[in-house]
Amino acid sequence: MPDEPLANVWDTKVQDIHQWLARTHGLTAGLVSRRGFATVARMNQPHIYSEKLWHEAIQLLPGGVNSPVRAFRGVGGTPFFTQRARGARLWDVDGNEYIDYVLSWGPMILGHAHPRVIQAVVDAARDGTSFGTPNPREIRLARLVTEAMPAIEKIRFVNSGTEATMSAIRLARGFTKRDKIVKFEGCYHGHADSLLVKAGSGGATFDVPDSAGVPADFARNTVTLPLNDLAALDSVNWREIASAIIEPVPANMGLIPLRLEFLQKLRQVTQAGGALLIMDEVMSGFRVAKGGAQEMYGVTGDLTTLGKIIGGGLPVGAFGGRADIMDHLAPTGSVYQAGTLSGNPLAMAAGIATLEELFAHEENFTKLEQRTAELCRETKKLATAAGIPVWQARVGSKFCLFFTEQPVTDYASAKRCNTQRYGKYFHGMLERGVYLAPSQFEVGFLSLAHTTSDIEQTLAATAEALRTL
Ligand code: PMP
Repeated sequence: MPDEPLANVWDTKVQDIHQWLARTHGLTAGLVSRRGFATVARMNQPHIYSEKLWHEAIQLLPGGVNSPVRAFRGVGGTPFFTQRARGARLWDVDGNEYIDYVLSWGPMILGHAHPRVIQAVVDAARDGTSFGTPNPREIRLARLVTEAMPAIEKIRFVNSGTEATMSAIRLARGFTKRDKIVKFEGCYHGHADSLLVKAGSGGATFDVPDSAGVPADFARNTVTLPLNDLAALDSVNWREIASAIIEPVPANMGLIPLRLEFLQKLRQVTQAGGALLIMDEVMSGFRVAKGGAQEMYGVTGDLTTLGKIIGGGLPVGAFGGRADIMDHLAPTGSVYQAGTLSGNPLAMAAGIATLEELFAHEENFTKLEQRTAELCRETKKLATAAGIPVWQARVGSKFCLFFTEQPVTDYASAKRCNTQRYGKYFHGMLERGVYLAPSQFEVGFLSLAHTTSDIEQTLAATAEALRTL
C-alpha cells in the first residue's frame, strides 16, 4: 500500500469524529461537512455539544474525567471538549477557538500537532505500534536525553511521570537499603502511595492533601518538610533517609521558585547522610533550559525523573541517573521494575522528534523565556492598573498569576490566595478565547508556536477580564 499523505490521514480523522458526533449527538449536517475546525474559527459559539458530552461523561467516568483537574472543580463550571489542536490553539466541539496556555499540562513545547512530530508518529505507526523487544528508537531518545542532561548516565523509559517517580523511589530504597523518604510540602510527584502526602496539584485544588486508600504505614515512611526553609533541613536524620525527592521548580501549588541556597543545602545534607537526591524534572525537564533545572541551578541529583516533553504528547516517563545506582535495576540488579509498553516506538518517535526540533535552534529557549517574560510583565502592569493585587511568578516559560496581596514563597502562602477571584478571572479569559489552567494551583506554559500576536490578543483579553473582577 503506498504511503498516504499526512493531510488525508488528518482530515479523515476529523471527519470520523464529526460523523460520530452527528450520529450520537445530533450534530448538524452543516458542521459535519466542514473540513476541520480551522474554518470555524469563531468565538463565543454556545457550548451545546460540550454540555451534551459532559452530561454523558459524568455517567460514564468518575467525575466525568480521567484526571481530576480537568473537571474544572477549581474554577467552577463545566469543561469544554477539545475536538482538535494545532500550534498554540485548541478548538472545542462547538467550534470555539482558544489560545492554549495549558498545552496538555506541559508536553507540547513545540505547539500542538507539530508537523515533524505527527509525521514521526505516523511513520513509526506504519512499522507497528509495539514490539515488546528492544527497538532502535529507545537508543536514539536515550542518547538525546543523556547528552543534554549529564547527570543522567543511564536511563529507563516508562509510561508516565508517576511511574517514573514511583520507580525512582523504589530504586533509591533498594540502593540505600533504607525505607524513609523526604518530600516537600506542596510538591507533587504523581499519585504513587508514598508520594501522596502533602502533595499539590489536584490535592491543592481540592484541599485533600492526603488521599484515602494510602495505608498509614506508607505515609509514616514519608517525612514532609517546608520548602525554602533551610533550618528545616537540619531537623532530619539524613542517615536514615533513602532519598529526598523535590521539584527543583515547584509548579504544583502554583509556581514557587526555589532559593538557590536551599537547593544547595539539600544537596549537601543528603550527600553527607548517604541519602540520594531525586530531582523530579517531569515538568521542568527540557522546559526551563536544555539541561533542565539542574543546568539552571548548577545543582545535580543522583537520580532524575522525566516525563511530559520527552514524550512529545504521547505517554512517556523516564528515570535515570548515576550508572552505579541504575545498575541496581532488574535485570542487572535486584530492584524490580518493568513495563509491557515501556520504550514504545510511537512514544519514542514523538519524543525524538520533539527534542530534535527543540534543540535544532540554540535560541529556542531564549525565545520562549523572552515571550513568557513579556506576557508576565504586561499582565502585571494591567493588574496594577486595574487595582487588582497579584503575585506574578515565572521560571523560564512557566508562569503563574496568584491573586493575593502577599508574596507567595511556600505552600502555606500559596493556599492563602483568592481562589474565587482566580475562578472568575479564568472564566473571563475563557470567554475571550484564552485557555488558562483551570486552577489557581497549576501553572501556565508557552510553546514555540505562541506568536507575539497571540500574546497581544491574550493581553487584550486580560485587560478586559481584569476589569470584571
Ligand atoms: N512529577 C511532577 C513534577 C509532575 O508535575 C507530575 C504531573 N504533573 C508528575 C510527576 C506525574 O506525572 P504524570 O501525570 O505523567 O503521572
